[in-house]
Amino acid sequence: MELTALLEKLKLDHLEAQLDAVCEQAAQRDLDYKSFLAMALQTEWQGRDHRGIETRLRQARLPWVKTLEQYDFDFQPSLDRRQVRELAGLSFVERTQNVVILGPPGVGKTHLAVGLAVKAVTAGYSAMFLSLEALMTRLVRAKHENRLERVLQQLSYPKVLVIDEIGYLPLTREEASLFFRLVVRRYERASLVVTSNKSFLDWGEVFGDPVLATAILDRLLHHATTLNIKGESYRLKEKRRAGLIDRAGEPRADAKEELREPFTAS
Ligand code: ADP
Ligand code: MG
Repeated sequence: MELTALLEKLKLDHLEAQLDAVCEQAAQRDLDYKSFLAMALQTEWQGRDHRGIETRLRQARLPWVKTLEQYDFDFQPSLDRRQVRELAGLSFVERTQNVVILGPPGVGKTHLAVGLAVKAVTAGYSAMFLSLEALMTRLVRAKHENRLERVLQQLSYPKVLVIDEIGYLPLTREEASLFFRLVVRRYERASLVVTSNKSFLDWGEVFGDPVLATAILDRLLHHATTLNIKGESYRLKEKRRAGLIDRAGEPRADAKEELREPFTAS
């Protein structure tokens, strides 16, 4: 069989695509047989690895891609960077533990959650990102269409499930109990990364029922790392630099319109 036919039969697509370059390099470096074989297989492996990362990244449906390396820890001194570094090592995923990121708007909660998801995806884990609102729409619809079990099953599959923005919208009783079911489903099986602008004390209000909120927190926090960010909004810092607000954080009279965005929930 011809070499290209063999590569096709064996589905070594990446090696096939880069065959000329690989052979040229091997000749240049005067590689022995074993080293050449290793280099060829390495080419195939890297191609597959990259493709896997791209696929998992697409499947994760992140709102945007930002990495932990892009996070400016100097700007947020209340955040313990060692704790984040520890999380970046992903042993929490291996141990099916959770991460809870708390803080006011703009301190980078979504950024950190996305960054952890990117780390997980790069390391070969599956991840999925949902805002609480999108999650609720999905679960409520599934329940009404009698497919709740299937959807809960789908949501228990990703090794890292990010649920962003707990606290901006109060939940109905039905929604809160659906959320509880999801937390129970993933408990000690796969990691949740959740973000919230509300402290745990206020979760009773968010979930509309203190008993349910306690049950949710009980599962969520049993094996969890909590990052409590008590800083200033990064968005406001950028607005300040752009001269839209003064030092005291007061909007300039003529900048109100432009500043509408950072004060809304996000
Ligand atoms: P939150 O979810 O807490 O409201 P975001 O994660 O959406 O905040 O952050 C708002 C914007 O500011 C994003 O573009 C984010 O990347 C950026 N950001 C926030 N904090 C930092 C930081 N410490 N370093 C770099 N970028 C940051
Ligand atoms: Mg956010």
